[in-house]
Amino acid sequence: MKPLGPIPSGFAAIDGELAIGGRKASALVAEAGTPMFVYDGALITARVAALRAALPERLGLHYAMKANPYPPLLRHMAGLVDGFDIASGGELAMAEAAGVPAERISFAGPGKRDADLEAAIIKGVTLNLESPREAERALALAERLGRAPKLAIRVNPDFDLKGSGMKMGGGAKPFGVDAAAVPALVRQIIAAGAEWRGFHIYAGSQTLDAAAIADMQAATIALAARLAEESGAPLPACNLGGGFGIPYFPGDVPLDLGAVGAALGAQFAALPEVLLQTAFCIELGRYLVGEAGVYLARIIDRKESHGEIFLVTDGGLHHQLAASGNFGTVVRRNYPSAIATKFGAAPEEEASIVGCLCTPLDRLADRGAFPRAEEGDLVAVFCAGAYGASASPVNFLGHGPAAECLVNATS
Ligand SMILES: *Cc1c(COP(=O)(O)O)cnc(C)c1O
Repeated sequence: MKPLGPIPSGFAAIDGELAIGGRKASALVAEAGTPMFVYDGALITARVAALRAALPERLGLHYAMKANPYPPLLRHMAGLVDGFDIASGGELAMAEAAGVPAERISFAGPGKRDADLEAAIIKGVTLNLESPREAERALALAERLGRAPKLAIRVNPDFDLKGSGMKMGGGAKPFGVDAAAVPALVRQIIAAGAEWRGFHIYAGSQTLDAAAIADMQAATIALAARLAEESGAPLPACNLGGGFGIPYFPGDVPLDLGAVGAALGAQFAALPEVLLQTAFCIELGRYLVGEAGVYLARIIDRKESHGEIFLVTDGGLHHQLAASGNFGTVVRRNYPSAIATKFGAAPEEEASIVGCLCTPLDRLADRGAFPRAEEGDLVAVFCAGAYGASASPVNFLGHGPAAECLVNATS
């Protein structure tokens, strides 16, 4: 028997069945069929409210939209957060379609093509420059277009986020400009007539350790202050990155938001002179939307092999790669999962929930304890609101995409 990850709060049983946003799983899939991602807008709204309550008022909250770009969810987010962080021309088009004004969008990511830079400059989106060469290209394009581009510099910090799932800073990286090269680049950008928008400093993702986040934020603020001093220009804005993790695996404990907020409040109360006028923000993806999503699939076959029970579903890693353990994890551990049509029932047997792809990698739950499930029952994989549909190899084996739906949407 292997343990399952913790089921996030906010999911109740109605008539012995998992309910999402007050609607039974069977009713949700009745319209669009299985497999299906269901996102609960009310849980996202509550999550944003909890962040606003715990974090200093001065701190802006941005959504890193690569976590989940489902259009109705983007429209929901647009009314909740202060800014959108995008990483491609495609995401720019989707953010615009969701009604996000250009002045609230910032565009990071390596390998921006000329067409991406041009679109951002024409629309007035802030470019987080990833290299000195990208700065030159943006300035040249802006001159040709007769526009003053809004330019920020993504700094490759000299540190990374402790306990982070995916390291994005510290040492040689494709992301950002090495800190030592930043002050000269700031002066060059300002001298060229660009609108200077400040720093973007992102050191990592998915940690549950409040002290690690507090240390990273303190180091980020210190680095921003030093670089602003050395550049000799006031710093209009500073994106402190993100890194807030959610519990996916057995034993994971939710991040202590209160501790993060208190530490950042203390930092803000003691800012150096050069940062007194700076607008600060953080950018979060999975923390905003990850726990609000559930992946539902139907059991197509129940079989036994060498004494083990397999619940074979119509879903799989082509929709939910992360739950199969193949999206940046070293050791495969079980995401939270359940038999949705017997939600809350006592476990009766050990079974593995597998997908319909012809690969041994396609396992959604490995030897977990579940109530007995049959053909036709629905399974739920939780923590499916981030890096699910859009971060999985949907074309692999030709089963096609999962349906998606947002319940409790505000717009
Ligand atoms: C992916 C990414 C994020 C979001 O990460 P989460 O772990 O989902 O919060 C934020 N900022 C940048 C620069 C990213 O690349």
